[in-house]
Amino acid sequence: MFATLSDRLADTFKNLRGKGRLSEADIDATAREIRIALLEADVALPVVKEFVAAVKERARGEEVSGALNPAQQIVKIVNEELVNILGGETRRLRYAKTGPTVIMLAGLQGAGKTTLAAKLALWLKEQGKTPLLVACDLQRPNAVNQLQVNGERVGVPVFAPEPGNGTGDPVGVAQASIEEAKRKLHDVVIVDTAGRLGVDAELMQQAADIRDAVRPDEVLFVVDAMIGQDAVTTAQAFLEGVGYDAVVLTKLDGDARGGAALSIASITGRPVMFASNGEKLTDFDLFHPDRMASRILDMGDVLTLIEQAEKTFDAEQAMKAAEKLSGRGGEFTLVDFLEQMQQVRKLGSMSKIMGMLPGMGQFREQLENFDDREIDRIQAIIYSMTPAERINPKMIDGSRRQRIAKGCGRTVTEVNQLVDRFFEARKMMTQLAKGGGMPGMPGMPG
Ligand code: GDP
Repeated sequence: MFATLSDRLADTFKNLRGKGRLSEADIDATAREIRIALLEADVALPVVKEFVAAVKERARGEEVSGALNPAQQIVKIVNEELVNILGGETRRLRYAKTGPTVIMLAGLQGAGKTTLAAKLALWLKEQGKTPLLVACDLQRPNAVNQLQVNGERVGVPVFAPEPGNGTGDPVGVAQASIEEAKRKLHDVVIVDTAGRLGVDAELMQQAADIRDAVRPDEVLFVVDAMIGQDAVTTAQAFLEGVGYDAVVLTKLDGDARGGAALSIASITGRPVMFASNGEKLTDFDLFHPDRMASRILDMGDVLTLIEQAEKTFDAEQAMKAAEKLSGRGGEFTLVDFLEQMQQVRKLGSMSKIMGMLPGMGQFREQLENFDDREIDRIQAIIYSMTPAERINPKMIDGSRRQRIAKGCGRTVTEVNQLVDRFFEARKMMTQLAKGGGMPGMPGMPG
């Protein structure tokens, strides 16, 4: 998502590098390039027009700042305007003051509603809530069952019509679920509704009836970001037919240009609240316009990375690693090397993580080809070493390397590569610990 747009914008900014002052012609040329970049990313035309006009006006009017050169100033303006069209501030869920908070999901069939219901339930559970999932999609065969399976996976109960009653009345089920939630003290109710393959009047009416029956605190419109401009059209139809408070974008992991994500908030006037970016039930989070803008500009989504790291990192292990780095906890060994790799894996797939780091845009292709199974191979090799060898890899000679390779079913070359990589990593760590620190922000033009 956003890869082409990122590349295009990076090229645009590159052209401004080294300029001491932006002439009218520079600004016009830049505006033109930004326009093309946005149109290529499939951003809706009215949004593009407004965006470019705003950037142009601000670039002309911007005070000459001592801190930023003209190229950086343009990046700053584009960044702020991106945040703007993405919806501005992060929109958070509003909880009911009394009784259960009711969240209703609406959208087309295949948008990812049922998957999203479970993801949202898990996310809420992690925040200490006790959600109840409600199966009101009685249209799509298997939707109830799918919700039950997913509910079980995230450990959240599902309220559904009795089997055999599958063609029953979704409005009745929705109403009954609120009573059930009150009885069983659930503080959030997530109502999954039926979708159709295309927008139709009956579908809208049913969703509107459910809405009127349960008076949701939040109606969320769920839309597949991969369907491009159609997402915007559908969003408008649902706005008129059902109405909603916020948007959830799904399949942001898909190979799309991202135009839907960039247009929908401006066109509908409703913020994007959540983003779903994978098939796993944990591939889900609040949508932060500012972080998304940084990611598009390849300034790195460091905040999300840090948050994920905080969630998954084992504090004790991190402390140990930090001590090793500072030279107080003894030497960095293969055991630490492996632990680090495993920690990294806990963060999610390598390519996703790296995509959040600043300046990584240029390595995108290599990252997408990164094979997470590499960590399994490394693990197998390290496990077939003796404990002494893991602590002191210098003692691994030629014949031991052959033994190790045999023991784990890998080649001697692979064992050699691993040992080399380890020494390389250790060298790097020592340098870092000596205070070399991180290199600067590669995403920003100088
Ligand atoms: P519903 O008809 O709206 O309830 O849609 P489903 O929840 O059944 O999802 C339709 C398909 O999209 C399923 O195959 C899901 O696994 C898939 N899906 C849902 N969310 C995502 C996502 O964020 N990324 C990807 N890649 N696939 C998703």
